Amino acid sequence: MGAEAAKEFGTRDALQPGFVVNERASSRVADAVDSEPHDPRQELGAAELRILYRTEAQAKRRKEARPGLWIAVVIYVLFSVSDLLLIPDVAALTITARFAVGLTALLVLEAQLRRGAATDWLDVTCAAAIIFGYIGWLYPASMGANKETVAYYMVFGTIFMMSANLFFTFRFKVSIITSTIILCILYVVNYFLPASLAYKMVFGTFYVSCFTFTSYVNWKLNEERYNVFLNALEAKIQHNEATERGKALLRLSRTDPLTGLENRRAIDEKLRDYWNDWQKLGHGFAAILIDVDFFKKFNDCYGHQEGDRCLIQVAEALSDLIKQYDGSIGRYGGEEFIVLARMGRKDQVADLAEAICRTVENLAIAHELRRDGIAIVTASVGAAFTRKQTAAKLEKIIHEADRALYLAKAGGRNCVRLFDPTDPQSSDESENLAALLKIAIGQDLVSLVYQPIQDVASGRVEAVEALMRLKMLDGTLVPPSLFIPVAERTGAILELGRWAIRTVCAELLAQDHVRVVSVNVSPIQLKTPGFATSVATILGETGVTGNRLAFEITEGLEMEMHSDILRCISDLKLLGIRIWLDDFGTGFAGLSWLRLIDFDTVKIDRSFLHDCGTPKGMAMLQDIIALVRNRGHKILVEGVETEEQMLLMRQFGIDKVQGFHVGRPAPAANFQTKRAIQKRPFTVLKSA
Ligand code: C2E
Ligand code: MG
Ligand code: MG
Repeated sequence: MGAEAAKEFGTRDALQPGFVVNERASSRVADAVDSEPHDPRQELGAAELRILYRTEAQAKRRKEARPGLWIAVVIYVLFSVSDLLLIPDVAALTITARFAVGLTALLVLEAQLRRGAATDWLDVTCAAAIIFGYIGWLYPASMGANKETVAYYMVFGTIFMMSANLFFTFRFKVSIITSTIILCILYVVNYFLPASLAYKMVFGTFYVSCFTFTSYVNWKLNEERYNVFLNALEAKIQHNEATERGKALLRLSRTDPLTGLENRRAIDEKLRDYWNDWQKLGHGFAAILIDVDFFKKFNDCYGHQEGDRCLIQVAEALSDLIKQYDGSIGRYGGEEFIVLARMGRKDQVADLAEAICRTVENLAIAHELRRDGIAIVTASVGAAFTRKQTAAKLEKIIHEADRALYLAKAGGRNCVRLFDPTDPQSSDESENLAALLKIAIGQDLVSLVYQPIQDVASGRVEAVEALMRLKMLDGTLVPPSLFIPVAERTGAILELGRWAIRTVCAELLAQDHVRVVSVNVSPIQLKTPGFATSVATILGETGVTGNRLAFEITEGLEMEMHSDILRCISDLKLLGIRIWLDDFGTGFAGLSWLRLIDFDTVKIDRSFLHDCGTPKGMAMLQDIIALVRNRGHKILVEGVETEEQMLLMRQFGIDKVQGFHVGRPAPAANFQTKRAIQKRPFTVLKSA
């Protein structure tokens, strides 16, 4: 799991605007997705909730203070009309008081708002306005001559009480104090009013009832407001959580569960963004593919858990590196990663690719069972970058990076290759070849030539090797060194390989022209399920027995020993087919292959014979011959070109030889008369 710990999905976090979940902590994300919604009452203490409520209520009160007071003042001033009608003798005084109190209250409130005074002070101003408004009206009114009218008019005092409790949304304490003051003033005035006892009792009771009911309703309202606040808070939290869960699910669908990096789907979308920026704004970018070398071997050797750990370590190290380049990294599948980074110059891309390669190397994760002398985990890196070209396509840059990666692997791994459009191996030419290979069999562009293999002791051609030839539509020949790798990469080798075996059987073996034909078989074919069965079918169809065929296997690029390959080889042996090891000594795997597979014949690569000119080279060839002989395999030396080399082979007691001295590859027709082959001098074949 990633180095950073994942954050909890708590309510408090969910309430914070910048709430983020660690990208890599996908399991935590999954937990959060499964978790129950939260109740704020369980999550926060009562005191904290009250504080939250007060903060929220304060904002509301603040907003309502200005319109509340303005409305109250306007109504209060409008009551001047009833003053004029009911108490005309003191109306001038009451009206003056109304205006004075009203205007003063408004001025004070506006000044407070402008200065950003605390909400509690706004409440005090409004409460004072109520009290002074009440006194400002009642006091001059009570000085009037018509006491009876004043006694009726006083009933409006309850309105002041109501506005303290119900009209304004003061804090409960402020409401109660204000309405109590009003109640007291009412009582005082009621006491001194020259009215009957019955009147005073009725009014006194009415004031108290009014005070009690409005205070009670105010208290209930406050309670209700708090509940509404709690419900709203709960709804908000649930909404936040639902949104977070949605985001987490989305993140999960875009995250690689093992490494926490973006998965292929997510990185493909990013790639589209990078591409669009390149197309619209001209921001160039690099696409870099990284493949952990011999990872299958690592898994086989250390187990899958350790393999997972290795991938996580590589992912973390690379994502730390990529941060410095402001790029994106994702897991492209298996042991393959992809990096996208905005850059336009080739040297920048090369630097980044090199840094990636070195970063993996510097992790120094032990990988003892590699066969190439390196004992740590390394990566092969293939990079491509945007360049101006016609008919540019998004997929192309990945394809180019893939080509470069292929070349990095071919170049011995633990290295970097940049896509080079001028390199025929990686250019459009290989695209053309891939297309050509698809139609090769149908269009008769592919054929076989056969090179004789001579038994040294008898001097007879005991077998021939089938070699594939491909011509382009205009008849130009394409060398196998070019088209075989493309066929292997694209999978075309599967069909071509079957075709070759069928053709060999039909052209030479069915009519008994040659005793044994060796056919080159790619490890890709051996790895493919059903290959041995398809060979058995061909043998059945052509009526050829398996012992007339030999399959030559070369250590290729993807030559990690696969259990499927071993199984396939033993199936082929059951069919009677002999297995030869081709080009021995040129790859890494030769020796371990010798240990694992009982080869009938080992073909020693021609380079060893050609190096024989020096004592060192000669000693090397002798050592290799001794090694192979001691393992009990028959020995075939390739590349015999001269009589001297031939003599040497006899001297060394080699079993079979092949090379231009024996005969060059020639079409089937040259071998189709059995006797002709055996009697024909080799010189004739040489010129074929
Ligand atoms: P290979 O199997 O080692 O084939 C021998 C190659 O050495 C042939 O090259 C042959 O022409 C060349 N050769 C033979 N004698 C001499 C000699 O005396 N001197 C020199 N300098 N070269 C000699 P070719 O035909 O170009 O084939 C190259 C490679 O392509 C083959 O190497 C084999 O690995 C691959 N290949 C050819 N046909 C097939 C096929 O049908 N299937 C697969 N999978 N690979 C094939
Ligand atoms: Mg061969
Ligand atoms: Mg060979």
